[in-house]
Amino acid sequence: MIDKLVDLITAAERILVFTGAGISTASGIPDYRGPQGVWKTRTPVFYDEFMTSVDRRRDYWQQKMEDAEEWGAAEPNEVHRALVRLERVDKIEMVVTQNVDGLHAAAGTSREKLVEIHGTNREIECQTCRERSAPEPHFATFRETGDPPLCHCGGYLKPATISFGQNLRADEMARAFDAADRCDLAMALGSTLTVNPAASVPLYATERGTPYVIVNRGETAHDRLRTVTLRIDGDVGAIVPGAIERALAA
Ligand SMILES: [Zn+2]
Repeated sequence: MIDKLVDLITAAERILVFTGAGISTASGIPDYRGPQGVWKTRTPVFYDEFMTSVDRRRDYWQQKMEDAEEWGAAEPNEVHRALVRLERVDKIEMVVTQNVDGLHAAAGTSREKLVEIHGTNREIECQTCRERSAPEPHFATFRETGDPPLCHCGGYLKPATISFGQNLRADEMARAFDAADRCDLAMALGSTLTVNPAASVPLYATERGTPYVIVNRGETAHDRLRTVTLRIDGDVGAIVPGAIERALAA
C-alpha cells in the first residue's frame, strides 16, 4: 500500500492535500474531538455572543489565552515539513486544512498554497477592518488589563479562527474548491472527514475521477466511497513523510 502511495505521489503534478487534527497530534496539539477535547469541558462562545457581549468576549479571550499557554509553542512536525518539500518541487496545488494551529504556515507552506478553512489561532483579526496582527501583544494586554483588546479602528479584535455560529469565508472556500477542480491527486491526511463543508473539498475533486488517497488512524466518513483509490489506516506521521521522501527521490 505504501508503494502505491509513493507511485501516486510520483505521478501527480497538482496535489490537493486536505489535513485534519491527526497531522498535528505529533506536535502536541490535542484533537478536539478526542476524549480530552476541550469542547467537552467548556462553554463555547458563539460568534453573535462575542459581537454583542463584553463578558463573552472576555470569556473567549480567556479561553484562547489558556490554549495559547498550553500549546501556543507547538512546532511543525515531519508531516508539515514534508508537504513544504512537495511544494518546493511544484507538486502542490493547495494545502487545505481544518486545523487552526497555524502549523502549515509555520512550517513554510506559502500563503498562495494554503487555505485555512476554519481560520488560524496564530493571527488576530479585527472584526471591523479585517486587519491582521500577531497574537502576543494582544494577549499581553489582555493579561494586564483583563479587557478584551480593541483595534486602533475601534473594532473588536479576535483570534482569526472561525467561531461557532460564524460563517466560513466564502473567498477561502472558493480557493479550496478551485484547487479541487484543478488537482490531479487528492490526499486526505489525519481527518475523520466528518466535518462539512470542509470534507466536501476532496470529495469535489473525486467527482472528476481524480485519484483519492485517505491516510488516517481509524475510520473516516469517506471509507466506503467507490471513489477512494487508496485507503491506509495508520499514523500519518509514520507513513506520509517517508512516502513523500521516496517519491521525491524517484
Ligand atoms: Zn480594525
